[in-house]
Amino acid sequence: MKELRVVTYAPDQTRALGKKLGSLIDGSFLITLSGELGAGKTTFTQGLARGLEITRNVTSPTFTLMKSYKGRLPLYHIDAYRLEDIDQDLGFEEYVDGDGVCVIEWSNFIEDVLPEERLSINLTISDDDSRML
Ligand code: ADP
Ligand code: MG
Repeated sequence: MKELRVVTYAPDQTRALGKKLGSLIDGSFLITLSGELGAGKTTFTQGLARGLEITRNVTSPTFTLMKSYKGRLPLYHIDAYRLEDIDQDLGFEEYVDGDGVCVIEWSNFIEDVLPEERLSINLTISDDDSRML
């Protein structure tokens, strides 16, 4: 496993990092995002969406569990926050192993059903406006 650490000093820097990554993705891809509330998981995903040429604004899927967006590749944005201890088939396979880019916030809650092959990003709050990814 390779590890890279990046520190951002403003939300737009986190979005820029997401955008850069999004622009490099050219096929089916899974990204898991962990980190406490306000760490920047959704902010990162907003940038990623721009890199996938998605024009719609990405908002938190907390109350819908999953939102999909059309872009250069489809984006499936999942929030697993409310899935802790839910022991049933959620039918996420078609997104996780699907044709597009799947981003899962709070992936730690559904860790046992996720494939190991993925980009795993943990975000920590280091200061008001700085985050370590
Ligand atoms: P999460 O999805 O992890 O709960 P959000 O992306 O919704 O987090 O919220 C992150 C909050 O932290 C936003 O209000 C954002 O403006 C703020 N913030 C401050 N600095 C940063 C940074 N460097 N990167 C990302 N977000 C930041
Ligand atoms: Mg979020």
